[in-house]
Amino acid sequence: MSISLYVNGAIYTMDAARPRAQAMAIDSASGRILAVGSDDEVRRAGDRHAQVIDLRGRTVLPGFIDAHIHLLMEAYRSHNINAGQCASEDEVAELVRQRAAQTPAGQWILGGQWYKGLWPGQQFPTRASLDAAAPQHPVALWSKDGHVLWVNSLALQRANIRADTPEPPNGAILRDGDGNPTGILQEQGATSLVYRVIDRHDPTLTRHLVEGKLRELQSKGITGIHEIEDNEAFRLLQQLRDEGVLHTRVQMILPRQMLPQLRAIGVQSGFGDDMLRLGGIKIFADGTLGSQTAAMLDGFEGNPDNRGILAIPEQQMRETVSAAAEMGISIAIHAIGDRAARVALNSIELAQRQLATAGSHGQARTSKLRYRLEHVQLIAPEDLQRMQRLGVIASVQPFHAVADRDLAERYWGQRHRRAYAYRTMQQMGIPLALGSDAPVETFDPLRILYATTMRNDTETTQRPPWLPNQALPISQALWAYTLGAAYAGGEEESKGSLTVGKLGDAVVLREDILKVPLEKMPENGVQATIVGGNMVYGEV
Ligand SMILES: [Zn+2]
Repeated sequence: MSISLYVNGAIYTMDAARPRAQAMAIDSASGRILAVGSDDEVRRAGDRHAQVIDLRGRTVLPGFIDAHIHLLMEAYRSHNINAGQCASEDEVAELVRQRAAQTPAGQWILGGQWYKGLWPGQQFPTRASLDAAAPQHPVALWSKDGHVLWVNSLALQRANIRADTPEPPNGAILRDGDGNPTGILQEQGATSLVYRVIDRHDPTLTRHLVEGKLRELQSKGITGIHEIEDNEAFRLLQQLRDEGVLHTRVQMILPRQMLPQLRAIGVQSGFGDDMLRLGGIKIFADGTLGSQTAAMLDGFEGNPDNRGILAIPEQQMRETVSAAAEMGISIAIHAIGDRAARVALNSIELAQRQLATAGSHGQARTSKLRYRLEHVQLIAPEDLQRMQRLGVIASVQPFHAVADRDLAERYWGQRHRRAYAYRTMQQMGIPLALGSDAPVETFDPLRILYATTMRNDTETTQRPPWLPNQALPISQALWAYTLGAAYAGGEEESKGSLTVGKLGDAVVLREDILKVPLEKMPENGVQATIVGGNMVYGEV
């Protein structure tokens, strides 16, 4: 047995039974914690071969768990065209022109992060500018929120989208006065028409990019993620796990479209091992705020006829949620608008009632089954109460609150005052789990914690905090980033706190995060990251 003794630290365990400790012993073979307590108590757990690591009084927390990330997309974001800083359609086209000059004709040019809210006029771009920039390459560029795809004529041709193409279900093809597609495709029903004809990623490049991204996560103190992607990511992560180079614990949340396959093999949430598990399925209930495709109970401000888009018919949502729950598969539902949250909760309530009625005649049960709403940016007060009553987890990304503040005020009007209401949720007893939604926003936990506790972005501190009464106290924010996220994954018995028997995953910070002023949060740094007792990043 190889034992690591971490001594002389200021440990916040997140375990209510013993919140503070000085030292911990971790068995590196099993990755589990053997002892937590004073230096003397913990030293007794070691033998003469034990490795002693002096924490020099530094602060130790359970490792951060990002409950909502898209790892492959994040990895490719740094590789593909990044139009995030472009101030006009022409500037994006110029980036495409430069990329086309270095890319063999006929190959796809991909990228994203464009945001028309930054452009003069704030109009959707068209295929014409991309056609001029790259006449011989199919081009597809995602909007910043990932719900709109901007393509050129060659891409439309490859996808066989023409004037006479019927409108797809659960999406929209924008058209000019003659019915010709303008090059803007909204929501999955439409974007998938192009997405499915894009050549698959080169596996060698994907692996290289993902490994680099995992190292970045580790350098930020992240020891676990809930990875929301498909079989391509799942295959690669299995390979990395198999070779013993994953070093970040992953739970995989797969698209709802894969539910029939999961049913066919009878797998349940929690299947896997400490490095890689099946988490559940993801259902899109609606679109986004920025593209005004969030499903709203009342129309968008100044546009009362637009109540957004339900990304799945309500009946199909009900059937999917009920089927997944019966199989013991956790359900994560993307819900931005208040109508999306309502429809999602209707489905969850029904599924819970059906399971209760079925009693012991129902399918095999699992304690790992979780119901979660992703984002929950706007929700009616009575539905918040329903979340609490049904035990639905709010999986939230507090950086959205500070990044979207102007959009929320513009498109929701007075309703914005009860948007991103994390403090209200927490006080009502709704379990919170924090995450990033990278690549949409940063995955840096200290920047996210700053946004959570200060309701501001570290890069726009000249602005006043936004709805500061919804800021979470740091202790609650840390809970939601560790034990709360573990609970959202049905893994609170093995992760999320530094407790004997749990996995030895921790982050060592330069300063005491619960004592230094919140404004200093971003200057605090990650000194080291420990996974299963092994230091995977940094040194103390
Ligand atoms: Zn997301």
